[in-house]
Amino acid sequence: MARYTGSVCRLCRREGTKLFLKGDRCYSQKCAIGHRPTPPGQHGQARQRKMSEYGTQLREKQKVKRIYGVLEGQFRRCYGEAANMKGITGENLLSLLEIRLDNVVYRGGLASSRAQARQLVCHGHITVNGKKCDIASAHVAAGDVISVKATSKDNAHFKAAKEGSGRVIPKWLTADLENLTITVAALPVREDIDSSLQEHLIVELYSR
Ligand code: SF4
Repeated sequence: MARYTGSVCRLCRREGTKLFLKGDRCYSQKCAIGHRPTPPGQHGQARQRKMSEYGTQLREKQKVKRIYGVLEGQFRRCYGEAANMKGITGENLLSLLEIRLDNVVYRGGLASSRAQARQLVCHGHITVNGKKCDIASAHVAAGDVISVKATSKDNAHFKAAKEGSGRVIPKWLTADLENLTITVAALPVREDIDSSLQEHLIVELYSR
């Protein structure tokens, strides 16, 4: 399946909640969910029927997939990996998504959205432990140091990132924005990840 290139605000409207896909705009009055909270499409405003159990599970899976910006195949592989790990599959899944390099760049404040973070990684601006890494789905480990390539530090984007985004940096990351560096202090646990996500619904969906 090709990557979705349409309006990302439609995705938020479809899920009926803010997915924070558009950087600073998501925190402004311009956020579409504020003034057009109905699902997109011609019949979006029509009365919503009660959702089936399958529908609820599917919507939760789509929501998480869209938040992290991964495709169906990648998500399914990630789920398979989570199921093979020790512990609770749903929590493992969220942890694996959370330690993706693009997510860490976003969470640490070097990008205003995960889509922007993915682009920065793919364009070779990011290093992990001093080595360039242009794979957005690469997993970070505890102790890893994520930084901006020396030749990219004068880039206008990173100069702006030094000012700080105002977003809260999760406690499993330590960000030194003056030096454009993020350190993975520890791997994330469930409490560090969005508490509104209902990962058990995704496990139920894939267990059908
Ligand atoms: Fe979603 Fe952000 Fe668009 Fe608001 S501005 S609808 S949070 S992508």
